[in-house]
Amino acid sequence: MLSSVEAKSDTSNQTTYFRCIAGCSAQHSIFDVIYTCPSCGNLLEVYHDREPLKKRTAQQWQHLFDSRANTSSWPYGSGVWGMREWVIPTLDDDNVVSMFEGNSNLFWADRLGKQLGVPDLWIKLCGNSHTGSFKDLGMTVLVSVVKQMMAQGSPVKAVACASTGDTSAALAAYAAYAGHSGHYLFACR
Ligand SMILES: [Zn+2]
Repeated sequence: MLSSVEAKSDTSNQTTYFRCIAGCSAQHSIFDVIYTCPSCGNLLEVYHDREPLKKRTAQQWQHLFDSRANTSSWPYGSGVWGMREWVIPTLDDDNVVSMFEGNSNLFWADRLGKQLGVPDLWIKLCGNSHTGSFKDLGMTVLVSVVKQMMAQGSPVKAVACASTGDTSAALAAYAAYAGHSGHYLFACR
């Protein structure tokens, strides 16, 4: 007999889903509210079925991503959603909550490079973002998934996080941008 969680986890059309880190065979939809493996209680991880991605070569993927970067084409101008096939291919465009995060520049670290013996050292600073936190890159995905869940009738009343600051800042920003700020709850410490 299936549990209630297993019964609603139809992942047959999804290439991105949760699975147990301990190896239990069940797949769980990323659009379900589920935190741990129903069989053994271990944590879940997001798994990507990479087979469909093989329809393009590495060069074709690179060309596609380059053609989207820093454009105003919704939602592909985002450094995250420009690679949406590698993130969540089944998320509807209307449910993407994005402030065109990502695509932050590289900085030439000339002096540090000389100290390290690396003559041409460039550093990616993902904190050059809307909230000053690289967590924006993850929160655009989380809040987009929540928006799709709500659009599909899931009775989500709040999202919350335990955070020392960065995660809360990013979650607050994206929840507010989604227009559901009245339904979200934040907890930080
Ligand atoms: Zn398990």
